[in-house]
Formats: sequence, C-alpha cells, structure tokens
Amino acid sequence: MFIDTHAHINDEKLIDDIENVITRAHNEGVDVIVNSGSSYSSSKSSVEIASKYKEVYACIGIHPENCEEYNDDVEKFFIANANNKKVVAIGEIGLDYHYEGYNSALQKEVFIKQLKLADKLNLPVVIHSRDATKDMLDILKENKHLLKNGGLMHCFNGSVETLNEIIKLGLKVSFGGVITFKNARNSPSLITAVPLDCFTLETDCPYLCPEPFRGNINEPKNIPLIAKKISEILQINIKEIEEITTKNAKNLFKKLI
Ligand SMILES: [Zn+2]
Repeated sequence: MFIDTHAHINDEKLIDDIENVITRAHNEGVDVIVNSGSSYSSSKSSVEIASKYKEVYACIGIHPENCEEYNDDVEKFFIANANNKKVVAIGEIGLDYHYEGYNSALQKEVFIKQLKLADKLNLPVVIHSRDATKDMLDILKENKHLLKNGGLMHCFNGSVETLNEIIKLGLKVSFGGVITFKNARNSPSLITAVPLDCFTLETDCPYLCPEPFRGNINEPKNIPLIAKKISEILQINIKEIEEITTKNAKNLFKKLI
C-alpha cells in the first residue's frame, strides 16, 4: 500500500469527481490519502471528506498565503477537531515569500502560533516553505521544543545542506512530482542523501503532476510514478520504496491505519 502524504482532493479541480479520484488511487495501490487544509474553509472541508471516506485523513491549518485569516475562531475549530480520529496533523503551515507583497512578519507570527498549537494538541505539523529557507530554519531551530510530535517538510526540493538541518531537527521530508521533472537537477543528490527512514511520498495534487503527465491535473493515483523515480535513483525495488514510505508515514501520522 502506498500513502499520499499531501494532497488537496477537496480542491475545486477534483472535488466533483472525488469518488472516482479515490477509486483510481485505489487501483494503483494508493489506499491512504492525507488531505491538507490551507485555509479555514479548506480545513473544514478536509475534515468533512475525511469523515465521509475511510481512505481519506485530514490535516487542518492556515497556509502562509492565507495568514490574514488566522483568528480565534480558526483556533477554536482546530482545538475542537484535534481529537478527531481522522485529523492527523496541523498543516499546511509555514512561510511563502514567492509572490510580491507578502507579509513576512505576519506569516512568521501565524506560523509560530500554529507550531505552538500543534505542540499543545500533541499533533505533528506539515510545513510549507517556499523561497524562505533562512527564516524557516531560524524559526524551526528557535522553536525546536515545539517539534516533539514530529513534522513533514512537504514537497521538499532544497539543498542537501538544508535537508540535513531538517533531519537534525527530527523532521521528515516528502518528495513529489518535481523530482520527476527533467530540470530537477538536485533531486538525485537529495534522494541519495536522505536517510531511508526520513522521507514520504506526496502528490500535492491537483498541482505538480509528475512526468510523463506534467502539466495535467494531478491525482493521488500518480504516487507510484514518484516511487518509481526514487527506486531508479536508489536502485531499490519499488516494492521496498512502497513499504519504507508507508512505514515512515505511519510513524509520523500516528492515527493512520
Ligand atoms: Zn499543498
């Protein structure tokens, strides 16, 4: 069994076809989908689909691009859902300095608030970091005491040095379709460098569709394409990649069955 550790099947591109999306994933051996929230409304719908479909689990969190949304109501919702059996983590949370006009001070504040909340609720975190490596590592190092429930640096595509810092903090990384892209020059060195117990697989669907379908709407069914690429780089049988990454995902998200 494969696990997609970061998906957005509640996205408008997939939600209307969600039952077929889950069936197609199932047909490729992807039997667990961890759906990520990124706003208040998508966190709510993440919980809804997780309660409706046994294969789906939920993360709840406010993505840095939506940091203005974070308020007491959101926090109350997170607290109220922390003990839900299908809510496995707080995420995705983090920093994103990619687009002009971002508010780094507010992003940092909201990120740290959610790290504190996850710690209080005994949940791991799913972290999004884009064009913000230095601030991200600074915050994680200063708040290492808040990371005892573990965390996943999703869609990781940084340097081997950054990877090593993340692993030192006790976090895992997940690899997505980007590693299959022809211009993904640092992927082989990253995959060779990552300890076998420190990575998982993700689609980040509907975005980042792996080769040979790059540019299409991505779905959890494409997880084996990412596993295949890793198996080629590491010269390890794909079955073993499947077992290793499923075990790693279950070690991180304790509520997965
Ligand atoms: Zn995402």
